Amino acid sequence: MMETTLELRHVSFRYGDRAVLDDVDLEIASGEMVGLLGPNGSGKTTLLKIADGLLRPGQGEVHLGDSRLRDIGRREIARRIGWVPQDLEGLFAYSVLEIVSMGRFAHLGPWESETDHDRRIVEESLIATDAQAFRDRYLNELSGGERQRVFLARALAQEPEILLLDEPTSFLDLKHRLEIYALLSKLARERRLSVVAASHDLQLIAQFCDRLVLLRQGRVAAVGAPREVLTPEILGEIFETRVEVEWRDDQPLLVWK
Ligand code: ADP
Repeated sequence: MMETTLELRHVSFRYGDRAVLDDVDLEIASGEMVGLLGPNGSGKTTLLKIADGLLRPGQGEVHLGDSRLRDIGRREIARRIGWVPQDLEGLFAYSVLEIVSMGRFAHLGPWESETDHDRRIVEESLIATDAQAFRDRYLNELSGGERQRVFLARALAQEPEILLLDEPTSFLDLKHRLEIYALLSKLARERRLSVVAASHDLQLIAQFCDRLVLLRQGRVAAVGAPREVLTPEILGEIFETRVEVEWRDDQPLLVWK
């Protein structure tokens, strides 16, 4: 049996009187790569923030391993869950190297400074995301795609069990999109990292993910292997468009009408 690392049980959430998530159940296994799909406003970002403990569910519970997420402190969450947001504000005064090094903070005691081990992890994270070339530049001197790679490098430097990514490739060119998904897939297989990525890259998500979760208006509308859920019926209903789906080996070819 696969070990569950993260579990949302009957999670509902509202911003004021606006219901955003409604009774969401989701289990993520160790080493599993899950794609989170859905139209704008369907609740993807909110779901990820709840999974990272940045927002508390109004109803329901999030479990991380054997513990309730709300019983776990922020530092421990930062050691166990890596969070890659769409953009990070407030970091413009820092260099890339400084930002990626922040990924190690949760592993250091209050008066401890970085060791060679920490520096090596930071170095490996910069290499894995192809970010070494701009390591000494500041965030405001980078393109959107370069920034996304820095945020991913920072999360990798946390050496988490789980990586939550909010549209991690929206600004990336094709080469880097492919590289990032291939890297995530490799980390899932080799290090048993669990990956949950919200994305509009249907094609790539379907190619690399074990399972897809489709959200619609805050509810899980479909969940399953890419082949089970990427059907014209399900996609048509969720995205309110007509689409044809053809499979070539394990890759879908989506033709939107
Ligand atoms: P997605 O990531 O799928 O686009 P979000 O989780 O960002 O969806 O948003 C879900 C809904 O919640 C949207 O209708 C959005 O307008 C609303 N929303 C998001 N953040 C806030 C907020 N801070 N305050 C009020 N409403 C919000």
